[in-house]
Amino acid sequence: MQILPPEPAAIRAAARALREGQLVVLPTETVYGLGADARNDLAIAAIYAAKGRPRFNPLILHVTDLAAAEAIVVLPPLALRLAEAFWPGPLTLVAPLRPNAGVSSLALAGLTSAAIRVPAHPLMRAVLAEFGGPIAAPSANRSGRLSPTTVEACRELADVALAIDGGPCLHGLESTIVSLTGPFILLLRAGALPREQIEAITGPLGSPEGESEGELKITAPGMLASHYAPDTALRLAAHDVRAGEAALDFHGQLAGFATRLRLDLSPAGDLTEAAANLFAFLRTLDSMGARCIAVAPIPDFGPGQGLGEAINDRLRRAAAPR
Ligand code: AMP
Ligand code: MG
Repeated sequence: MQILPPEPAAIRAAARALREGQLVVLPTETVYGLGADARNDLAIAAIYAAKGRPRFNPLILHVTDLAAAEAIVVLPPLALRLAEAFWPGPLTLVAPLRPNAGVSSLALAGLTSAAIRVPAHPLMRAVLAEFGGPIAAPSANRSGRLSPTTVEACRELADVALAIDGGPCLHGLESTIVSLTGPFILLLRAGALPREQIEAITGPLGSPEGESEGELKITAPGMLASHYAPDTALRLAAHDVRAGEAALDFHGQLAGFATRLRLDLSPAGDLTEAAANLFAFLRTLDSMGARCIAVAPIPDFGPGQGLGEAINDRLRRAAAPR
């Protein structure tokens, strides 16, 4: 995989590779994405192969602006208000697909809805503009593993034409996914846009549990119990560090314990900083050969807890039995 510095030549090379049906690693404000032309079935098939991703797991489409999104999906009034408030940014909207949207049905896993967002990262936006079409881009990691927040962390992927180095990702967490396909607005995945910012516009978000059986369950492996997983086991809500353990700390709670490596997501207790550090710190701790990683308690969702809900969601899936 060729890693290019963030220069105009890299933008042109990425757009050319996309037009040729190749895969490119692109920086976004959430995590690094593995991009392909969303209209090209073969290129989309290559994404699933490179990630080892189950074919029933649809991809998020990235477009330049609201007009480009509306060419692909029908956005109900509430979705338009969310788009106006949060695009460009880390919010993905799931909405009914337009007939003749032109998107590979493989990218949509055959569904009649699509997940779409307008990213904010200037390099991603420059590639979208130069390419001139929708880019399907899941996270640039093997399916089920930790998401990459630096370009180096994307090296495990084979068959990628090139990568653009955009430095560490601003948010370090995937986008928040909201579904507006049925009578209720549902939070499908907690993410880099905190729930309370969305609820300020929509009122309380529903949860997919108990809603329309089958479809949501199979369309959301980001919602599977085990996902975002390191090799090393995690011990959550740890108030101590035991022999042979490494420590993922928050706000200095585990500072007093002997350990071969303790990384503090945010010594000041800031959840935005913690989110940005989460995947990179888990990678480092995972490489230590520790028996287990003790993870300090992190405030969950509630007023002012912002990204706590999304961070704890990722940690629970990373810790789940496989
Ligand atoms: P990512 O793995 O970050 O690309 O996110 C893809 C996730 O978006 C999937 O795992 C689903 O949870 C969600 N998603 C994509 N398309 C749809 C859809 N049409 N309906 C429901 N969820 C979707
Ligand atoms: Mg992913």
